[in-house]
Parts: sequence; C-alpha cells; structure tokens
Amino acid sequence: MQRRDFLKSTAIASAAACINPALASAKENTQDWVWDKAVCRFCGTGCGIMVATKNGKIVATKGDPEAPVNRGLNCIKGYFNAKIMYGEDRLVTPLMRVNAKGEFDKNGKFAPISWQRAFDEMQKRMKKALKEQGVNGIGMFASGQHTIQEGYAAAKLFKAGFRSNNIDPNARHCMASAVLGFMQTFGIDEPAGCYDDIELTDTIVCWGSNMAEMHPILWSRVSDRKLSNPEKVKIVNLSTYSTRTSDIADIEIIFTPNSDLAIWNYIAREIVYNHPEAIDEKFIKEHCVFATGFTDIGYGMRNNPKHPSFSDSEKDTVEKELSITLDEDEARALSYLGVKAGDKFAMKNAAKAALNWEISFNEFKKGLEPYTLDYVCKVAKGNKDESDEEFKKKLQALANLYIEQNRKVVSFWTMGFNQHTRGTWVNELAYTVHFLLGKQSKPGSGAFSLTGQPSACGTAREVGTFAHRLPADMVVANPKHRAKAEKIWNLPAGTINGVMGNHFVQMMRNLEDNKQKFVWVMVNNPWQNTANANHWIKAARKNDNFIVVSDCYPGISAKVADLILPTAMIYEKWGAYGNAERRTQHWRQQVVPVGEAMSDTWQMLELAKRFTLSEVWGEVKIDENTKLPSVLEEAKKMGYKESDTLFDVLFANKKCREIDIVSDSSKDWINTDVKGDNRKIKDGSGNIFKGYGFFIQKYLWEEYREFGAGHGHDLASFETYHKVRGLRWPVVDGRETQWRFNTKYDFYAKKANPNSDFAFYGDFDKSIQKGDLKAPEGEEKTTITNKAKIFFRPFMKAPERPSKEYPFWLCTGRVLEHWHSGTMTMRVPELFKAVPEAMCYIHPEDAAMLGLNQRDLVWVESRRGKVKARIDMRGRNKPPRGLVYVPWFDENVYINKVTLDATCPISKQTDYKKCAVKLTKA
Ligand code: SF4
Repeated sequence: MQRRDFLKSTAIASAAACINPALASAKENTQDWVWDKAVCRFCGTGCGIMVATKNGKIVATKGDPEAPVNRGLNCIKGYFNAKIMYGEDRLVTPLMRVNAKGEFDKNGKFAPISWQRAFDEMQKRMKKALKEQGVNGIGMFASGQHTIQEGYAAAKLFKAGFRSNNIDPNARHCMASAVLGFMQTFGIDEPAGCYDDIELTDTIVCWGSNMAEMHPILWSRVSDRKLSNPEKVKIVNLSTYSTRTSDIADIEIIFTPNSDLAIWNYIAREIVYNHPEAIDEKFIKEHCVFATGFTDIGYGMRNNPKHPSFSDSEKDTVEKELSITLDEDEARALSYLGVKAGDKFAMKNAAKAALNWEISFNEFKKGLEPYTLDYVCKVAKGNKDESDEEFKKKLQALANLYIEQNRKVVSFWTMGFNQHTRGTWVNELAYTVHFLLGKQSKPGSGAFSLTGQPSACGTAREVGTFAHRLPADMVVANPKHRAKAEKIWNLPAGTINGVMGNHFVQMMRNLEDNKQKFVWVMVNNPWQNTANANHWIKAARKNDNFIVVSDCYPGISAKVADLILPTAMIYEKWGAYGNAERRTQHWRQQVVPVGEAMSDTWQMLELAKRFTLSEVWGEVKIDENTKLPSVLEEAKKMGYKESDTLFDVLFANKKCREIDIVSDSSKDWINTDVKGDNRKIKDGSGNIFKGYGFFIQKYLWEEYREFGAGHGHDLASFETYHKVRGLRWPVVDGRETQWRFNTKYDFYAKKANPNSDFAFYGDFDKSIQKGDLKAPEGEEKTTITNKAKIFFRPFMKAPERPSKEYPFWLCTGRVLEHWHSGTMTMRVPELFKAVPEAMCYIHPEDAAMLGLNQRDLVWVESRRGKVKARIDMRGRNKPPRGLVYVPWFDENVYINKVTLDATCPISKQTDYKKCAVKLTKA
C-alpha cells in the first residue's frame, strides 16, 4: 500500500465517513421524511447534522453538507444520533425510592410517581437543606452537554433565585484547566484561533490529544491537509501511549506521565538559549510580559490525610498534599528555589495557587536553565524500549519544527493537558512557546485547546455554570459583575452571593461530610465520572441526603439517586450548543419527547414555581460565620411581592412574555414548552400541561446575549442562528470572528489597539505585582493592558507514581465508538457490538511477565479500589511497558473506583490520567 493510500484509509477508518447506517437499512419510502438542520449530540467538534422525522419519530440523521465544520461527514457516533433516543430502557416516568406505604424511603425501591409528587418531595428536601445548611446545602451538578439555554436557566435559578453559587458542571472534569490557562494568559476565555487553521498550517502537533478517536471529523480535516502536501505538512503526536493519532504522524513521542511540562520547557530553552534569533522580540515587547507563580501548591486532594473516610492504603498518597520529598529530578527542576534532592518540600502556598506575578526575561531564562536535552530525555522518555539517542532526536526534531522560520504550527490538546495536577501550567506553557516565536493568533499558527463536550464552551464556560462564574466571563466575586448581572436579571442590588460555591469534587466531598444534603444532577453522570468513586457512592447511599437525577437512561448516577426525573433528549427540545472554535449552533425541537419525559428547562421552571421570594430572598446563611442580608425590602420597592415565585420573577416575567411566539424560526414547528403537546402530561401542580404560552427558549437566548454584547462576547439573535450553520463569536455587525486578538480579524482587537497588529484585550487578572522566580516583591501592582503573559512553569511529578506494590501507571480516557459514560451509545446495538466492553490495554511483555493471555480477566487495583477488565494487547492503543490504559465508558468496568481525585490546584480539574495500580489475574 502506498503511503498516500494508507493515509486515506486511516482517515476514513477514524471518521467512518462513508455510510449512514440509519439510511442504509431503510427499505421504506423516504419521500415523506421531513429534514431539518441540527447539531451532533456528542463531542466538542460540533458537527452539523440533518435530522429526518416521520410520524413523530426521528428516523434518520446524516452529516450536513452545508455545515462548515464537517462538510457533510459524520463519525461513527454521529451517524447514530437518531438511535440513541430509542433505547429499550429509556426513562419515561419519574421514579422515587419509596417504602410499602408509598412514602419516600432512602432504602426503598424505585416506584413510578407523578411529576407533582416528584416536585413535592424535591421542594421539601431542598427547603430543609437551605434552612439548615444555607445556600451551600443545596447544589447542582450541571453540564457541558446542557443546551446553552438550559445552562443559562440553571445558572439563573441557582445564582439569582436560590442565591447559591453551588452549581458546577462536568466541564470541571474536562475543560477547567484550559479555562484557567486562558484566563491567566489572555485575561479572557476560549481559543484565539479556529478550525480554519487546520487547512492553513504546515504543522499539527497533538499533545495529549488522541484526535483520531476523540475529534474524528477534525482528524479527517488534518488528514486531508497532510495529503495535500505530505512532504511539507508534518504531524507530531505526543502521548503517554501509542494511539491511532500516531498512525499518520511523522513523529511519535511517547513520554512519561507529567513530563509534558519538561518537554515544553525544553523547547522554550532551545529557543531562548540556542536559537535567540527565532524569538519574535517585537511581538513580545509590544504584546507580552513574563510571569510565574508559586510551585508549592499541593495537588488538590483533601488536606487532611487523617480524614476518617480514608482507608489506610489511601493515606500515603493524600499525605503529599501537605509535603513531598524531592527526588533528584524534581530538585533539579526546582533548583532556582535553592532546594536539593532529599529535601522536604512543604506545600505552603496551596491557598495562593492562582497568584501570579511579572518577572524579568532574565528570571524567565534562569528558570529554563535545567531543561537540557539530556535532562529532559532522562525525565521524559516514556518508552523503555526506545534508545536515548532516538528519543533525543525526536525532541530535537520537534523543537526544530516549532522554531523553523516561516513554518506555521498549530498545537492541539485535549484531556492529556487538562486532566493533570499541573493542568493550568501545561496549558500556559503551550502559549509560552507560541508567544516566544510570535506564532499565536495568526492564521495557521496558534496553541489551540480542543473541547471534549458539545457545549463545554457554549454552556459551561460562556454561560458560566461554574461555581465562580456568571455569564460572559464575569465572576461572582467581582461586585461590578454582580451588579451587571442583577441589572440584566432585574434583581434587587445585593441578591447575588459574592462568595464562590464549591467546585465539583468539593461538592462530592461535602456530600461525604454531610455538609450538603441536596443535589440535582442534569445531563451528567457524576457517580460514574468522578474519580475515587467508592467514596461518593457511599456518601450518596449512607448519608442523610437527597439526590435527584434528571436523565434519559438509568446510568450509575440514576441508580444511586433517590429521585429520577425522565428527561427529554436533544431533538425533543429547542436548544443551542457552542463548540471548540467558538461556533454557536441552534436547532429546533423535532419530535415530542417519549413517555412523560420533559425538558430540563421545563423541570427547572416547574420547580421555580415552588419557591416564593419570601423563602429565598430573606437573610440566608452562606456558612457558619457568614450571612447574606435580606433583599426583600428592596425587591418590594422594585414592585415584587413576597408571594411572587421564582417562576414569575426569573422566567415568566414581562420581558419574556413580550417575545413573539410566532416568528420565522418557530412557525409551524413543534414547541412543547410553549404550546404543550398531545400527551396530556400532568405538570407540577397536577394539571394537564398545555404549554406556558411564552417562548421560553427564545427569551433565555435573547436575555443571555445581553451579557456579552459590547465586550468581546457578542452573539447574534435567535432568529439569525436558525438561518445559518453557526457563527463564531464575537459576532459584530453580523460578522463572525476567525482569529481573536489579531487586529485584522477581530473588531475588539482593532478597537483596543488600532495602530497595532495585536491586542490581548481580556482584562481578567491583568493587574499584577512584580517579583522574581521565588515570590512577588512589594504590594504595588501594574496593569498590563492589551498584553498577554508568557509563563515560566517548572516540571513537577504526579503525586502518585508506580511503586513496588503498585507498579503500573493507569491512564483512563475515551474510545471512538462511545460517548463519555456510555449511557447513550451503549444502547445503540451497532455501537455496543463494535465495542461492547472496556478493555485494559497492556504491553505484551508486561502481560507475559504476569502470565496473562489476550482477553484474560485481570483485577486492576489501586490504593482506592479495584475493577475487573479483560486485557488487550492487539488493539488500537499500545501502551509502553509499565502503563495500562482503561477507558471509562463501561459501567461494568467502573474504572473511576480506581482513579485518584487529585486535581490541578488552580483549575480544580481532576487528573484521570495518572495513578498507580497493580494487576492480578482474576
Ligand atoms: S461525535 Fe464529534 S466528530 Fe463525531 S459527528 Fe459528532 S461532533 Fe462530529
């Protein structure tokens, strides 16, 4: 086979682009199918799809030829968007744990109940938790798969209604390190570039990103680009094990977990020490400053190793939260702090992990000094069977590709960077190298974080469903931001709580400590997706709390819940997603939901009817020492009554009722929330739901976009998005933005710095102290207007590493055929049969050493728990000796019982990629 043919077949295998199974098997007349544009339910690529309906059912989907992202292609998952909706065990009625008398009983069995009964119990439990524990006694696990409007409604309900910031999305597990990397570097969230970079670049470097499986349609575009000029276009894949992404790579670099930090510093050192001529001095002088932060920041674990929930075997890892003993490699990386091997390194600055300050270029250069080729080869070579010379040659080749003058380079990354105990740092180091070379925010050049989920950008980040955020990059801690949100939401001044809520893992820990007794889960499977899951299952089942899970299928979270609410799926409601290139895409409701399933928006609105202002806007407890004052008097001055409900104030208000129900986008179209439907569903009051009579989805959109207008987050109108295949924000005067911060393309850059080529105009964290590599000096702060930060961040190791007792690294992740926890895709027969179970991928020599054969069952066991899985030595993932890879989609191989809940101390995102395990034959 010729290399060209090989490349082609590999790309097609990844994208599975040539068939539509739903259509292929159809024998029926397709003339009466009604097609409409929509968006794929799954990954952050954000492919446009066409959806066909007939007799109230989705009968087929196909890639949308007009969609600029995928140009008519879909990957294998994308083609099954229809079938995910009709699994046999779709949840169709509310279910609650009850005793023989039909009363709620934590130890009871699930029984069907009415929506009214469901809201009765939810209301009771929520009000009790609010009263006893304050605003952090309740919470929501939200989602990067919430539609934008749902996420917005959830944030508004919690932050404006309940005055609780205790809402955090599963995007915390997926994107938080990217967010903090953006915020600290640029002062504003989300990528500078866009997918057009793929066709414009000469070099694609994948860092901890198996794009061939996780972003298959983007990978087909990468493959096309490679085929267009195979000699010039280079692909490099950096990973801790060999993946399909390596199949068409010119260079594959297998590195030791966490040593990506060292490799970036090696490239930076090469530039600064050996190729100073490659430094874009003008770019740096005009647009950047150098910066750093503390290193002794811990690993985001509980800071109490004696916590009663820990088993003895867990304690030695958790103790690292307080201090570590430096080995030779780490001591060398941190030599600028005056430390040496064997020193005890106390984690004194965990509370100041996010603090950063400006340093001089000379300090920056000093920090890079240890990262010589020899040193980085020693700490980073991940394949024991590769020679040092070979590994060094690859590192040099990688550095040369970045450095080569006039060579355009795009660096892509996904979870390998973000799920990392130094995730924020490693994101920042990518920008460091691109900035040094002036290869950032330019067509075909830039560091580009790829999103995992379909609306991690659009919903979790842009809407701000994180515990610290408000829409459009605003934060609850900033009084001006709260005031702006209160104005748009028409709230009394002081309604929004200025104290950040708890992040995702902290919420789990609080459930375990009984500090939070109510949680609502939406579009999310937290009991399957949170590391160290044995703790959280016990917390859910043994503690006196109430867990509500809105879901379409009974996944692990539904099974541990007390109340399950059946939820409408993507094409059973109106919605919008925002993908990894800032593209916002809307779709219409195509069919009426199955059974008694109702949209998440409807569920939130029905619950909002159960809370009056007098119950939520009076004086309320934040924690034992802090109270939020009452805003009821102020509310009355604004014309509200104490008996008004959150439904009246936040949703069914005048602004909402003024929106036209009939418009180009909606006429003749199904709209269950507005008009009801023919199922005769009884609502939260026990009456047949005939629709709200107002266009809630359009209202939520139009109000939400007020937040971003005029400051770099501008979005188009609801009606516009229903006519186009998405637009990349900021959308100014109807024009989308391809490259942000570049004055040729970005309205806001031009406005901020009209006489320059660039303006890094984000204003978050731009007022900083000065200092050296060790600490800031003095209190004085300088504002670095329109500038970005070039960070120095050192190499540090993971807190838990292979040892004699637990000799293997465990890395977890996804597979092409299944989406996240598999709740939807495992119910599609074709996808299930393609990959029916999660395997433990292992090197053949390791298997031989353990006496294991292909498909033997093993126990994969860590200090925290164990699961059984079959080993695979021949599959698509090929780990080096000493590492095993287990995907997390399969609830029967519940790998998050094994993983460690250490997080990046800045972003609070869990590192699912590194812990130590042993393997024994099962
Ligand atoms: S799963 Fe991702 S790559 Fe595949 S069709 Fe959907 S959006 Fe596109």
